[in-house]
Amino acid sequence: MCYAIPGRVVELLGKTAIVDYFGEKKKAVNELPGLKVGDYIYAQGGYVINSLPATEALDILETWKELFFELRETDLRLSRMSHEESGVDQKLALILDKAAEGRELKREELLTLLKTENPAELNLLYKTANFLRQKYLTNSCCVHGIIEFSNYCRNDCVYCGIRRSNSILERYRMTDEEILAAVEEAVEKHGFKALVLQSGEDPNFSIERLSALIKRIKEKHAVLLFISVGEVGKEGLKELHRAGARGLLLRFETSNQALYGKLHCGDKLADRLQDLRDAYEIGYLVLTGGLIGLPDQTDESLLNDILLTKELKAEMYTFGPVLPEGPRADLVLKVLAVSRLVDPQNAKIVVTTGFETLNKNARRLGLLAGANSVMLNVTPLKYRKLYDIYPNRAHAEERIEDQIRETLKLLYDLGRAPTDLGI
Ligand code: SAH
Repeated sequence: MCYAIPGRVVELLGKTAIVDYFGEKKKAVNELPGLKVGDYIYAQGGYVINSLPATEALDILETWKELFFELRETDLRLSRMSHEESGVDQKLALILDKAAEGRELKREELLTLLKTENPAELNLLYKTANFLRQKYLTNSCCVHGIIEFSNYCRNDCVYCGIRRSNSILERYRMTDEEILAAVEEAVEKHGFKALVLQSGEDPNFSIERLSALIKRIKEKHAVLLFISVGEVGKEGLKELHRAGARGLLLRFETSNQALYGKLHCGDKLADRLQDLRDAYEIGYLVLTGGLIGLPDQTDESLLNDILLTKELKAEMYTFGPVLPEGPRADLVLKVLAVSRLVDPQNAKIVVTTGFETLNKNARRLGLLAGANSVMLNVTPLKYRKLYDIYPNRAHAEERIEDQIRETLKLLYDLGRAPTDLGI
């Protein structure tokens, strides 16, 4: 199974490769020595991941070709704007018209959208977000894998099940060999091209240990690696980037300083934001966002979260509900849709596992409300249940094969190609 379509390099401009996909040209950063015009490659997150023999690529492209155009047709049909606007306030309809034209919305307008509870208006908001996603980014949907390799954490975030003071949680820490085996299975057996390595802030995984691990992974496997191990500081980020990490997944959780401090035992929001800013400067793809439904969180605060994500130049927006209580599913969908309106042309917006835990139709609903990314959990089953950040996590007991099958079924149904065609 493949989660990316091979493309042909048609031009090389320094470190930038121009790649052709069925006539469409995309850019990707090339770090492979010896890459030539005419070579076939896989790209992910805007990076060339590996090259493959032309015969193999042509074979894969042949099987993809028909499906590719068929999926695009389905997506186009499902994302068309309709004019059944009865029950929609005139002012709100005008805001969404403006958004659909690709014009930037003002803060007050975005807030009006976030505040609506009217079903007809919500429906139109989601449709507009889906329309913009299709218009600018067509039907590609990234499918990344995540490996949670340790649930030890030195932090004590109030809402988090793996917080230090949770003494009833059974702790685990995968060995380097176990992590390598999980990566090998995800990449070589299941075809993942991008993986997140996540853990609590576990001092046992020092920067040296993480670097050595990342180097070993990069030597053996063609994969785009994201790290999600909490705050590591600028030097740590540099070291991990040198080792081969290319993405940082780090939610700022909330842009409200007072709330952040209260929920994170006095930790500073500014420190977390500094890591995110440094990461972007170093060259990381930044994946960030926040929690929805925190105590005393207002719509204004949620809008600030969305705007901060954009300001941080996020490659991917990740917003999920606080569990187990959770807000209503509509609030999560509104945040996804407004994120799309705020960053229509570039954002990857993920349907989080948290949202899937809150609502079993989350993926379908989210993908039809502006989202274009999903993450599958490829942590070995014996550990997966122990990464218990909140109770009853979706997919905690589902084999990877089953998750892949279900995901592809849904994506094909919605006309999405499980691929990431780069920037
Ligand atoms: N140590 C890493 C990974 C933390 S776990 C880091 O600091 O980034 C990953 C995410 O789980 C957190 O960023 C948080 O947003 C989410 N999370 C934790 N507890 C949660 C809860 N009760 N409900 C929903 N999401 C939660």
